[in-house]
Amino acid sequence: MKVLVINSGSSSIKYVLFEMQDSKVLTKGIVERIGEASAEVTHSVFLKGEEVKEKYEREVANHVEGLEFVVHLLTDSKKGIIHDKGEIVAVGHRVVHGGEHYNHAVVVNDEVKARIEELIPLAPLHNPANLQGIEVAEKIFPEAIQVAVFDTAFHQTMPAASYRYPLPNELYEKEKIRAYGMHGTSHEYVSKQALHLIDKPVDDSAIITIHLGNGCSMAAIKGGKCVDTSMGLSPLAGLMMGTRTGDIDPSIPFYLGSKLNMSFAEIDQMLNKESGLKGIAGSNDMRDVLDKRSAGDKEAMLAIDMYVQRIKKYIGAYIAEMGGLDAIVFTAGIGENSDEVRRLVCEDMAFLGIDLDEKKNRERKAVNRSIHAVNSKVQVWVVPTNEELEIASQSRALLGQVTQKSVH
Ligand code: ADP
Repeated sequence: MKVLVINSGSSSIKYVLFEMQDSKVLTKGIVERIGEASAEVTHSVFLKGEEVKEKYEREVANHVEGLEFVVHLLTDSKKGIIHDKGEIVAVGHRVVHGGEHYNHAVVVNDEVKARIEELIPLAPLHNPANLQGIEVAEKIFPEAIQVAVFDTAFHQTMPAASYRYPLPNELYEKEKIRAYGMHGTSHEYVSKQALHLIDKPVDDSAIITIHLGNGCSMAAIKGGKCVDTSMGLSPLAGLMMGTRTGDIDPSIPFYLGSKLNMSFAEIDQMLNKESGLKGIAGSNDMRDVLDKRSAGDKEAMLAIDMYVQRIKKYIGAYIAEMGGLDAIVFTAGIGENSDEVRRLVCEDMAFLGIDLDEKKNRERKAVNRSIHAVNSKVQVWVVPTNEELEIASQSRALLGQVTQKSVH
């Protein structure tokens, strides 16, 4: 059974084709610079575990042409992975914002599309492109079910005390201004993996997931359900990130406007694109910042201190909110690969029962692995995230429901 996962951006389409029997990736790739003079297509096939990458440069006028070319690559008689696009039974779409309507994945129908459109003001860069991806896939894969998997859905279990802002009520009631959280599919995937690993009844568990990529976020997960998360109405809130500020005094934008005469657009650009690691250390790439820090660069040292301090602050807050902690889970580019960041985050936390095994922490393996000391009260895990597989699994689960309904 084959499921295609699509992440549609404004000028790109990322795709992964899974064989669901063994959760294996058959092909994956990306069509970039759609609509420009020449688009770039990177297509990988996995042959006996080896990734074979091919690149194509060609004109791709729009998303329909982009996805048609992907189908051509998938069904190519010589190198293709499938004979016919009809073999794809479900297409799972990453949709950034599901607002308060969706706390789980849904099969797309007209109502779902209307809701995704309604939510565009909350995700102006993403929801339009995600919707476009769905509409194009409906045309190209008419026999497959289309499934929307929302990045906000996992966080919908948060209690009001976590998701409400202390603003006048009508801003929530009329404008739906509240915290939604992002990276939900990643937090859901790694927390489910961790809950299998920690050997504790789910209902009785308290874990913190730490997603550290270009964007960074954390979630407090009690009894398997998200009770708090660091991103808010937008992905700008919470931890310090590659180029985003994370939490800052909300009066700073007023100051920038009145004192420096900056426009909303300029402030938006500065807080989202020129801040975070980049603003302090001059690079948004954690590897560069760590290298500069090792070379004694003062700004890089400060950037890492600030980055780690914020993660620690959220760990403390979440332990207090959940009334305890069983496990911490690190994931995404930095969380999976930087033993130094993990070490610094867990440093001096033995009094909370968090004790790393330095040797295990330094091992480099792209698999789920524990890195805590034998006597650590709190378990610490590295779990490689796999948002695409989570989207594919949730899509397949819905296929089951649709099939059952049509049978009974
Ligand atoms: P995205 O949010 O774009 O999916 P990723 O999850 O791929 O991002 O994470 C990107 C970040 O991971 C970058 O800051 C990069 O420097 C960092 N990273 C990747 N490998 C390493 C490594 N070995 N050590 C430290 N940081 C790393």
